[in-house]
Amino acid sequence: GLGGNKGWKPAWRDPDPKPEYDIVIIGGGGHGLSTAYYLAKNHGLTNIAVLEKGYLGGGNVGRNTTIVRANYFLPGNQEFYSHSLKLWEGLEGELNYNVMHSQRGLINLFHSDGQRDAFARRGNAMINQGDDAELLDREGVRRHLPYLDYEQTRFPIYGGLLHRRGGSARHDAVAWGYARGADRRGVDLIQNCEVTGIDIENGRVTGVQTTRGAIRAKKVGIIVAGRSGQVAAMAGMRLPVESHILQAFVTEGLKPVIDHVVSFGMGHFYISQSDKGGLVFGGDLDFYASYAARGNLPMVEHVMEAGMTLMPMIGKAKVLRSWGGIMDMTPDGSPIIDKTHVDGLFIDCGWNYGGFKAVPASGWCMAHLMATGEPHEVARHFRLDRFVTGHLMDEEGTGSQHN
Ligand code: FAD
Repeated sequence: GLGGNKGWKPAWRDPDPKPEYDIVIIGGGGHGLSTAYYLAKNHGLTNIAVLEKGYLGGGNVGRNTTIVRANYFLPGNQEFYSHSLKLWEGLEGELNYNVMHSQRGLINLFHSDGQRDAFARRGNAMINQGDDAELLDREGVRRHLPYLDYEQTRFPIYGGLLHRRGGSARHDAVAWGYARGADRRGVDLIQNCEVTGIDIENGRVTGVQTTRGAIRAKKVGIIVAGRSGQVAAMAGMRLPVESHILQAFVTEGLKPVIDHVVSFGMGHFYISQSDKGGLVFGGDLDFYASYAARGNLPMVEHVMEAGMTLMPMIGKAKVLRSWGGIMDMTPDGSPIIDKTHVDGLFIDCGWNYGGFKAVPASGWCMAHLMATGEPHEVARHFRLDRFVTGHLMDEEGTGSQHN
């Protein structure tokens, strides 16, 4: 800034697409970029292009409420998110990029005896997995969050589950950090390049059609979050995924007041404060399938009401902006990292409301799968055929209630 913004070097190159790559990744969001990064870093594969129809980080990776946690309950999810949190803990050193990962502690509130039991079980599962959890009673919560309304009787606060290693991060910095790291290892990041078709010959993927011409590839990864159903259809697949809108909100900048991530247990509301001072919060899905990156007013009202019930003090803050992102929802709330029926074509999708925290481990595991042909140990349950065999991993509540 003091230098008049002159002489700044771009953080990554802007190459034209080559006619052929070993690997093409469709989608320049968090998961696509981290996959490219780990393909290069962990597997030494660098003849790779990431094709992004808009700009890098313009999708959900730059639209989410940035909650990072490892508090899943089911085997399959637990080890994956535990691995992801460990990667987060070293991410700034790994990427040499300030992603502002802040382990300020996540508190999930509970409001009934039944909810307390469920959170006690979850906390024990987290501890068994090697992660951290502490069950707080009402006074324990009050010591951390004195500003909640402890007098309201509609949803009385019984206590909370504290996950000290949970927190948040600067969302788009995560995309930029992985982008720069991948670019420096030789990956071509190609923006304004929409994939419009997937070429398949004799059951094997041979490349993609794009708005910048045809590109041949030995392997292709579909990593397009809310657009998964559309892009998979280009390969003749009908995914068990529906696209829904999730909204988020930010207020004007305030002095530091909320120094945890807090999640309401009786409605859909979660909140944290960004380093710029804005209160960042969200709620539930808009509940109709859509590809619009904006939301509806009834959900705005619902989220504001839940916030006011929990912490009436935020009522004076002015909301500056709201926006929406397109969620790739699976029926069981768990993701997919798998091969497809087409040789050389892989898919990473179904992140529901919770894929930001998964960015490091998803890239790590997708890269492993694409490079070796075998699922990574911690992602081996994320199979596409579980919707055929019935081996579902129904953890929808974790996504919907706590992001
Ligand atoms: P994206 O960033 O959407 O990347 C997909 C990319 O693919 C896009 O850039 C898109 O342009 C590109 N693409 C699509 N079609 C094509 C095509 N045909 N050709 C080329 N490119 C294409 N998760 C959490 O863990 N914690 C949270 O607190 C949280 N809160 C959320 C709040 C909101 C409001 C939203 C919207 C999401 C939230 N999530 C949260 C979920 C998380 O953001 C997503 O699960 C995750 O970002 C999805 O993966 P991605 O980053 O790769 O997606």
